[in-house]
Formats: sequence, structure tokens, C-alpha cells
Amino acid sequence: MISLIDKKKCVGCHACVQRCPKSCIRMKEDEEGFLYPETAVSLCIDCHLCERVCPVLSPKEEGRQPEVYAMKNRDEEVRSRSSSGGIFSLVAAEILTEGGVVFGARLNDRWEVVHDYTEQLQGLPPFLGSKYVQSKIGNSYRQAEQFLKAGRCVLFSGTPCQIAGLLGYLGEEKGHLITLDVICHGVPSPRIWDSYLRELLGKKLAVGEEALVKEVSFRNKEQGWKNYNFVIQGTAENSVGIKKWISEPWKENSFMRGFLGDLYLRPSCYACPVKSFRSGSDLTLGDFWGIEEVLPEWDDDRGISAVFVHSEKGKEVIQRIKDKCEGVESRYEYVVRRNPSLEKSVTEPRNRQYFFTHWKEKPLIPFIEEMVKPVSQGKWKRLIRKLVRLLKSGKRYE
Ligand SMILES: Cc1cc2nc3c(=O)[nH]c(=O)nc-3n(C[C@H](O)[C@H](O)[C@H](O)COP(=O)(O)OP(=O)(O)OC[C@H]3O[C@@H](n4cnc5c(N)ncnc54)[C@H](O)[C@@H]3O)c2cc1C
Ligand code: SF4
Ligand code: SF4
Ligand code: SF4
Repeated sequence: MISLIDKKKCVGCHACVQRCPKSCIRMKEDEEGFLYPETAVSLCIDCHLCERVCPVLSPKEEGRQPEVYAMKNRDEEVRSRSSSGGIFSLVAAEILTEGGVVFGARLNDRWEVVHDYTEQLQGLPPFLGSKYVQSKIGNSYRQAEQFLKAGRCVLFSGTPCQIAGLLGYLGEEKGHLITLDVICHGVPSPRIWDSYLRELLGKKLAVGEEALVKEVSFRNKEQGWKNYNFVIQGTAENSVGIKKWISEPWKENSFMRGFLGDLYLRPSCYACPVKSFRSGSDLTLGDFWGIEEVLPEWDDDRGISAVFVHSEKGKEVIQRIKDKCEGVESRYEYVVRRNPSLEKSVTEPRNRQYFFTHWKEKPLIPFIEEMVKPVSQGKWKRLIRKLVRLLKSGKRYE
């Protein structure tokens, strides 16, 4: 039976919930907005299945060195809607065209991030692009299992811990499954995302006006791939025309600053159990940051994917899309030097606990800004003076 003491030891994948034969585990939201399993002890039959499928309690070995490619989709429109080189879209379209099913993360009508699936090419666009919030997996492992049992090909995409959870859940019965994960910095709290969105819209609208959000893009490329914008657009009820409520470079947007400042990531992201390709996926996609140093002629600032191929299945699907993309073989070292998230978890900021203790007491957006603001010059001077004093006082005791 799963009994959680340390929150860092649960990635929130729902594998235990979906596998339990007595349905005695449910996910419950904590005060930070993340979901954790809770077991009804009286119903448990001690079968240990939940522990066996858990990617933290039953971890996998470090993956072998994969083949590495720099790749980009030839379709510029699709590449512009994707976060890096638009390779996910090509792989997904290939599976759908062959009659398969694609699972991934999308925003629902309440602008929450959820895992879902499509069997149609027309259903693919909502799955494109990175959403920087932990997605709710729900029953999607069970749904994928049903498609696989019916002999369908399934492409399941997500964060590495979600793929590790799926593979643990399925065990040996994988059928025609292809798994694709992303290089993962970490996932922000869904509750912080929801509060941020509400507060932002509240500022943009007149009193009593309702917002009809039409689009949220965490990675809008209108100003380029490297200096991407965070964009929310929509319309106010009873008014005409689409308004861009916010369109800010990521470095200036409070939600993105809090995310990249690691302020409100899931606790497991500070001790990620699936770094270094431990998820067991067939393919891993990421941004090929630093492409200008490795392949300067490819540096068009419209997005290049780093593609890692881990298995024969992965190799085969990349072969199938090769006419629709450009690709060049590359090296792991070229990607990892600008993408430490491949190997290392981020460090938990010292003020994270303070943030989560006090965030409900004040307006969120200025509070995020206060928490992530760089140390001012005055503070640096005070810190240096303190250090000098400490060093001097140390000498006196020699
Ligand atoms: C939370 C998160 C952190 C990331 N951190 C890094 C990083 O540190 N370095 C790096 O190089 N790349 C990172 N990426 C990956 C990168 O942003 C691109 O998603 C990836 O390169 C694929 O790009 P693409 O253009 O091929 O496809 P896109 O169309 O951009 O990718 C869509 C894919 O991302 C998946 N996805 C989107 N949001 C989520 C989510 N919330 N949860 C699970 N899956 C999701 C979809 O299911 C789909 O498979 C991260 C992505 C996410 C979601
Ligand atoms: S031990 Fe078995 S019955 Fe008990 S919670 Fe885990 S999976 Fe469910
Ligand atoms: S990591 Fe997944 S399987 Fe393990 S306890 Fe958490 S939700 Fe359950
Ligand atoms: S950093 Fe690790 S634990 Fe966190 S979401 Fe990504 S894969 Fe999961």
C-alpha cells in the first residue's frame, strides 16, 4: 500500500490509482494545488500492485546513450504553432494517418491542463505547444490500455514521469505503443496557474465583465523562438473583436518568471526520479538551445528540436516522417550543455516554503514578482560586507 510521507517521492502520475483492483486510492489536492494519492485502508487487500507500478518506488535504470538529431518540420505554419521544431506534430500525424490514437496534454474549456486523446487529425492542434502547468492524467492510462488491447497503435506523449508511470502501469502488455516525452524543467502548480489567470483577467476587464478566453500560448513565436512571448487573447462578453490581454516576452511575464525561477514546481521536480532518460520512452524531444554554435546555418529563430531516439520503434517512426522534415545527426554533449534539465533537477528556492505559506494572503502577481526579483545592488553590497565580516571573525579563532 502507498503511504506517502515525503511529497518529493510522488510525481502525481495516477498509475497507482488506475491500477488498484479495489479502487481504494483517490487523488486529493494539497494546499499547494498538487494531487497526491490517498488510500482507503479498510478496502486495501495488500496486493502491492500500486507499489509495483509506481515510477518512484519501482524506478528504472538510467537509459543508454541515444541517437541525437537536430530536426525541424518543413511545414512553417505548424512549426510556428509548436514550441520547438514541430516534430511532435509530425510523429502524431503519422500515427493518426495510420489509424492510431494520440494522447497528450491540452487546455480544456476552463483553461486547465489535462491529458486527453484524439483519433482524428483535426483533433491534433490543441495538443501542440508546451503548457507550463502539471497536466491531470485522469484515466488516460486505462484508456490507452483499452485501445492497445483492441489492437490499435497508440502514441502517448507527456513528461518523463508520466511516461514512466504509463509503462509501469502497462507492465509487459504494451502492444503497439510508442512513447514520446519531453526534456522536462519541472511542472508548476495547477492552482497557481488558475489563480494567476483569474487575477490577470480581473485586471484587464471592467467590473462585472466576463472574459471569454480564446487562446493561451505559453510559447508564442511571433517575436522569435528564443525570445518567445507569453500570450493570452480573447474577448469580453458583449464586446466585439479579439483582444490580446497580454503579450509579453517570457523574461517580463510574472507567471513565466515564477516558473523559470522554480518557485512553484511540484516538490518531486526538485528530486526528479527520471532524469537521464530513465522514463523508458522511445523518443525524447526538447529545444535545441545553442543551435547557433553547432549549426549556424540552421539558426533561423523559428525553432529547432533536439530529438533523442532510444529504441527501434522510435527509429522506425522517425524514418517514416523523414520526408516531411529536415534532420542532421548531432551529439548529446551539444544539447546537454545548454539544457541541464536532461540530467539535473532544479534546486528548490529558499523562499518556496514562504511563498506557499503566504500566497493566499495577498494579490498573487506582485507577490510572485517580489519572490523572484533579482538581488538588488544594495543587497549584494550588504551580503559582501557580511561575508567579509564572517571571514575576518573566522581568522581571530585560528
Ligand atoms: C513542463 C515542460 C517543461 C519543459 N522543459 C524543457 C526544458 O527544460 N528544456 C527543453 O529543451 N525542452 C523542455 N520542454 C519541451 C519543449 O518545450 C517542447 O515541448 C518540445 O521540444 C517538443 O516540441 P515540438 O515543437 O516538437 O512539439 P510541441 O507541439 O511544442 O509539443 C507538444 C508536446 O508537449 C506535450 N506537452 C505539452 N504540455 C505538456 C504538459 N503540461 N505536460 C505533459 N506534456 C505536455 C504534448 O503532449 C505534446 O507531446 C518542456 C515541456 C514541458 C511541457
Ligand atoms: S495494495 Fe493493492 S488494494 Fe491496496 S491500495 Fe495498493 S493496489 Fe490497492
Ligand atoms: S508517483 Fe504515481 S504511482 Fe507513485 S504514488 Fe505518486 S501517483 Fe501513485
Ligand atoms: S521534472 Fe521530473 S518529476 Fe517533475 S514533471 Fe518533469 S519528469 Fe516529472
